[in-house]
Amino acid sequence: MVDFKTKWKTWLSRMRSILKGDAFLCDSCKLNYGDVCNRPERPNARQCPDYLKK
Ligand code: SF4
Repeated sequence: MVDFKTKWKTWLSRMRSILKGDAFLCDSCKLNYGDVCNRPERPNARQCPDYLKK
């Protein structure tokens, strides 16, 4: 079961992606280097609960 906070963060990241012209979130994410992020969505995430703006 996904908790509300994770859902909210995923929704926010999705809105950001849409507003930015459907850009991939990973391109502007702090965690997009080395082995820091192991999510399967990387590098083409359009929504992600772990997204952190650079
Ligand atoms: S945390 Fe999400 S947005 Fe950031 S690099 Fe990983 S998959 Fe991409």
